[in-house]
Amino acid sequence: MSDDPTEPKKKKLRKLQTPLGVFDILPDDQLYYTHIKKVVRHRCRQSGFRRITTPVFEFTDVFQRSIGDATDIVQKEMYTFTDRKDRSFTLKPEGTAGVMRAYLQHGMKELPQPVELYYIEPHFRYDRPQKGRYRQFWQFGYEIIGESDPALDAQVIQLSHKIFEDLGIAHLLELQINSIGCAACREEYITQLQNYYVGKERSLCDRCVGRLEKNPLRLLDCKEEDCQILAQLAPQLKMYLCKDCKEFHGKVLEFLEASEIKYVENDKLVRGLDYYTRTVFEFWDRTQGAQNAVGGGGRYDGLMEMIGGPHTPGLGAAFGMERIILNMKREKIHVPSKDDLHIFVAQLGDDAKKRCLNLIWELRERGVKTVGALGKGSMKAQLRLADKFNVPYTLILGITEVRENTIIIRDMAKGQQRIIPFDTVIDEVVKLIGEKNLDKYSPGELVYS
Ligand code: AMP
Repeated sequence: MSDDPTEPKKKKLRKLQTPLGVFDILPDDQLYYTHIKKVVRHRCRQSGFRRITTPVFEFTDVFQRSIGDATDIVQKEMYTFTDRKDRSFTLKPEGTAGVMRAYLQHGMKELPQPVELYYIEPHFRYDRPQKGRYRQFWQFGYEIIGESDPALDAQVIQLSHKIFEDLGIAHLLELQINSIGCAACREEYITQLQNYYVGKERSLCDRCVGRLEKNPLRLLDCKEEDCQILAQLAPQLKMYLCKDCKEFHGKVLEFLEASEIKYVENDKLVRGLDYYTRTVFEFWDRTQGAQNAVGGGGRYDGLMEMIGGPHTPGLGAAFGMERIILNMKREKIHVPSKDDLHIFVAQLGDDAKKRCLNLIWELRERGVKTVGALGKGSMKAQLRLADKFNVPYTLILGITEVRENTIIIRDMAKGQQRIIPFDTVIDEVVKLIGEKNLDKYSPGELVYS
């Protein structure tokens, strides 16, 4: 440090780190995200779903109108900000509202119905951070829009179940299902529910007292013990379902049975968003119940009208990728790492470097995952690096090898090496790595119109 008193003092910089509740996804965890995305893409594509990506932020109205003013998300979990022109925007807290806005905006009603879309994206909620609950989290989800049939409800659940099977966690999860009826039968039920709570307000938690007026269905799934005891004795929603809703729900259950999907009927399951009608479901972690649901969904036949469009039935589901990964790790499920390298190329001298530039790419074209330390100095330093990359083989090209048109191939585990003709090196490496282990890649054929 300088002793000169005239020199301005350096300001100590605050240590930069991620805000509370958000996190970096480092390479080891990327393996899980990539694997889940691959499974979801495969299963969705196979079922005729096409991918959609809606913007990270939307006009706040999109969420306010659909999710509902009285819900936890809109009341206290949205990241809302105004831009320079004082317009209100919100980082998307969930996927369905944006997809429905896109369906309306792009006239998807003109397409053959139902329109089946899926997404894999980050979402944002001002939640209290804890294990499995963050402020930025990834969800995958899918929507079937434009048709109403109980077989579709069963199909969305079946698709979710298939994805969980592929990820190795289906046996850890329990499907909870309920019908919350249509607007008409729910109105009658809500009146009965509010009547039931008259005089019991003092036993409710503060949040439930607030919900009583604005969002009484949420009283049924409150996690506070006293509220749960009261909810047990509350009038049952299923007693108030109209004939059509009852029939619809019966069919959904019938179709689930036909697909051999086990479920638990849960009269207290309501979900936290206003837009649901009839079917609602969640996949609960068997050991932790509702606290750590990996996701869920339901039917939202009235949602399109809530955002200003014509009546358009729909249903969908969304799942949290972090909670799925927690389950996979707990089960000690490791996903295959495609990042492991096959070959390290070490070289000495400009002529060797020139040869290596092409060699590295030729190896990669054949599916050999190859790195070269083209910027590094001594051979010793390069071999030390090869060790760090944990490659099974290193190719060494020095001045002598260039002159003699050969190359050294070193087996890193055995510490043995041999000299082979340079022209045979690619075939030799492919043989050593094994055809089935190659990372073959094709950019696919481009079509020019
Ligand atoms: P929801 O639409 O609120 O039922 O959310 C569906 C799923 O998304 C949940 O079951 C979680 O797996 C996941 N999820 C929701 N909020 C969060 C959060 N704050 N942090 C992590 N995952 C979340």
